Amino acid sequence: MPHLADDQTTCCGCAACAAVCPLNAVSMQSDGVFDYPAVDEASCVGCGKCERVCAFKQIKPDGCRPLSAFAATHSDGVRLESSSGGIFTALTDRFLRQGGAVYGAAYDHAMRVTHSRADDEAGRNRMRGSKYVQSDMGGVYGALRRDLDAGRPVLFSGTPCEVAAVKAFFGADAKRIFLVDIICHGVPSPAFWQDFIRLLEAKYGKKVTDYRFRNKEIAWRRYSPLVTLADGTTVPENDLTGSFIEVFRYELTLRPSCAACPYASLSRQGDLTIGDFWGVEKRRPALDDDKGVSAVLVNTETGRAVLDALRNDVTLTEVTADDIAAGQANLSRPSVRSPEADTFIRIWKEKGAEAALKKYTRVGAKRRLKDAAKAILRR
Ligand SMILES: Cc1cc2nc3c(=O)[nH]c(=O)nc-3n(C[C@H](O)[C@H](O)[C@H](O)COP(=O)(O)OP(=O)(O)OC[C@H]3O[C@@H](n4cnc5c(N)ncnc54)[C@H](O)[C@@H]3O)c2cc1C
Repeated sequence: MPHLADDQTTCCGCAACAAVCPLNAVSMQSDGVFDYPAVDEASCVGCGKCERVCAFKQIKPDGCRPLSAFAATHSDGVRLESSSGGIFTALTDRFLRQGGAVYGAAYDHAMRVTHSRADDEAGRNRMRGSKYVQSDMGGVYGALRRDLDAGRPVLFSGTPCEVAAVKAFFGADAKRIFLVDIICHGVPSPAFWQDFIRLLEAKYGKKVTDYRFRNKEIAWRRYSPLVTLADGTTVPENDLTGSFIEVFRYELTLRPSCAACPYASLSRQGDLTIGDFWGVEKRRPALDDDKGVSAVLVNTETGRAVLDALRNDVTLTEVTADDIAAGQANLSRPSVRSPEADTFIRIWKEKGAEAALKKYTRVGAKRRLKDAAKAILRR
């Protein structure tokens, strides 16, 4: 029997092991917080393919540093729809113009975060905006294989472990996929996310059809969510809608493997790495208009060629990798799981999502009082 997730810190949930099994003996099963592979002993013939494809254990950073680094900004309109400076839109536009396919994380009809494929702008636009929740990768491997077989130009974007998974799954063929990894703080639980969405739906009496983690109408640096309901009305940030941001930022449901992430370094998995240019106001103050600046690390010659071709679409300013790394803890080390994470999860499971949020986020009176006291002391 294969050993796939004996230790939760060594499984990033990429689902490559399930996708590679020729007998469908491996499936992803939730332990109530995250998905892990489970092996059906009756179907497994012990071929070992699932163990060999495990990128998290086998694809380690090679120690190379980025070739170059840039600050990138798209038009104001695109930046308003994007989390950072909009470089993802510029990159994917290029592939769409060539008749290619692009892959990234989007919401499905039930607000689950799922890696999906798009070959037009509408599909790609659903991928815009960071969703700070683990994305379900289960469907991408077969779709990518069909695009490669059809000879289409393909761009895949995801967290570094998702990019490593695509590399491990496709081997030499992965060279034909343009790979973009994001600087990654780590992913919260998709099961908690689902409970959070159901909580919002109960509170507002309508289905949630969109949750924008970062409403750029408010600001770039401030993570201010905007919820859209089924009748088209929107709910701006309040203590409840904003509380999931705290779950993400304070690592209250961080995936155990994220705290042991082997990819949290300047030695990257993608042809390009994209993220927020945190600290741009100190490093390149002239570029900062609080509408969002992307940080771009160029990791391969292919990455360099593709970025060069975008010079008419985005403003690129050369910086150094150290300029970018200065504002990014996760380019040198993994995030740390909150010491409260186990209790948070226990309360969630025993008493529900709202009870856990009340105890640990600003939904609760205790935290609100603490925040108010801090604000007074800062004056
Ligand atoms: C879980 C997570 C943690 C992050 N942590 C950091 C960080 O610590 N520092 C930092 O600088 N940037 C981080 N980012 C990246 C940042 O938020 C932006 O996604 C990135 O800068 C791209 O912004 P953009 O303006 O180019 O385009 P956008 O149009 O906003 O790009 C969206 C991109 O994010 C991808 N994406 C969205 N949600 C997910 C998801 N759940 N899983 C995988 N990919 C997803 C899309 O596929 C697409 O590639 C994180 C993103 C995610 C999803």
